[in-house]
Amino acid sequence: MTKQRKLLIGCVADDFTGATDVAGIFAKSGMKTTVLIDIPEGGLSIDADAIVIALKTRTIASHQAVSQSLAALRWLRDRGAERIYFKYCSTFDSTANGNIGPVIDAMLEELASGFTIACPAFPANGRTIYKGNLFVGDVPLNESGMKDHPLTPMTDSNLVRVLTSQTKHRVAACYRDTVIRGAADVRDWASKAEADGIGVAIVDAIADEDLEVIAQAFADAPLLTGASGLAFGLATVLFKDRRNLESRPGYSNTVGSRAVVSGSCSVATNSQVEAMLRDHEGFKVDVASLASGEDVVSKALKWAAGRLGRKPILFYATANPEEVKANQSRFGVAEAGEMVESTLARIARSLVDLGVSELIVAGGETSGAVVKHLGINRLDIGNEIAPGVPWVSAPLSSGQIWLALKSGNFGGREFFVDAWDRIQ
Ligand code: ADP
Repeated sequence: MTKQRKLLIGCVADDFTGATDVAGIFAKSGMKTTVLIDIPEGGLSIDADAIVIALKTRTIASHQAVSQSLAALRWLRDRGAERIYFKYCSTFDSTANGNIGPVIDAMLEELASGFTIACPAFPANGRTIYKGNLFVGDVPLNESGMKDHPLTPMTDSNLVRVLTSQTKHRVAACYRDTVIRGAADVRDWASKAEADGIGVAIVDAIADEDLEVIAQAFADAPLLTGASGLAFGLATVLFKDRRNLESRPGYSNTVGSRAVVSGSCSVATNSQVEAMLRDHEGFKVDVASLASGEDVVSKALKWAAGRLGRKPILFYATANPEEVKANQSRFGVAEAGEMVESTLARIARSLVDLGVSELIVAGGETSGAVVKHLGINRLDIGNEIAPGVPWVSAPLSSGQIWLALKSGNFGGREFFVDAWDRIQ
């Protein structure tokens, strides 16, 4: 009998696109990686180097985010996870109440640790941190499209300030001047900071090399937190000489239909929707119709009949910031979001029943709603489409389904059109 490998990393992700993003990074580094949807019941035994538990905790009440995150952490620790990675968005998406800070506080307490780092940098996707400030491409976070996010508008690029308002710990920034001096200097900085009563450090990183230094410095820490950039650094450090490239799930699907379901309103997704609509058909989910009680799901499915096939069709609630704001002031922020998410999830479910077996979902919250509604509990990682977005596959009673769960801001303009070429 072959011995089960050590679980090097147990990862708790606060949304589903983030979970497949970080799992794609681990898999690319050669780690055998599994994504579990929610906390599995019972004693599931999984042979993996990294297990990512996908939660949908980014915008829920803080106490619920904390209790679900702790349950995931405990499940992973019970399976021998040597270190815990708390994965959130590279744009530090959070509400005024958290949930990044409260989850970090609870995880530190559970692990009896007084210090961790928060480093959402992801240079491959243009997220860099300098002097504690997060940049998206060429602009500070608060000048990027994230200022208009429907649920987690980010209005301050200074992560020390943002996190200070969410955590009971003192927060400080470890500047790049220290990071470029190497892992030993970063460790020294951290020891002094901890001795001075700092509980969480925002660490500067503007390039992949910085993330590797940071990962080296904290490779033995019980808890690290960040986006998939730091996870890449960690995987590189932990898995350097151990490349055991596992076979990817086999693709043998040439008949199923293809669709895109988009509930993201990010700048990137707006342009991807526009690009797809140039030569593909699309059905717009209108929030006012949903609010008036119209049966939009039936209407969408009626529209889809006769259009489903290998040429993908699009279902979208994606809208520009003015339209989103108008919906939110008319119907409420949470109410509008929830109506859209549940509608897109029901459309997706029906599409799968109608033979769609390759599905792109745009939006973190939207992906969470869709995957849960499909009743999927485990995802295997396939090819990367764009930085941060792999194809993933899951068994369904109707056969295997392929999904691409795209975080709002990820992917180039032609993502919805070109992604299909990367499935095998
Ligand atoms: P992203 O990955 O871009 O953050 P999410 O799916 O996480 O995307 O979040 C987008 C939120 O906006 C969802 O809750 C979604 O239901 C909501 N939403 C989508 N379209 C609209 C719209 N037209 N009006 C108001 N809210 C919308």
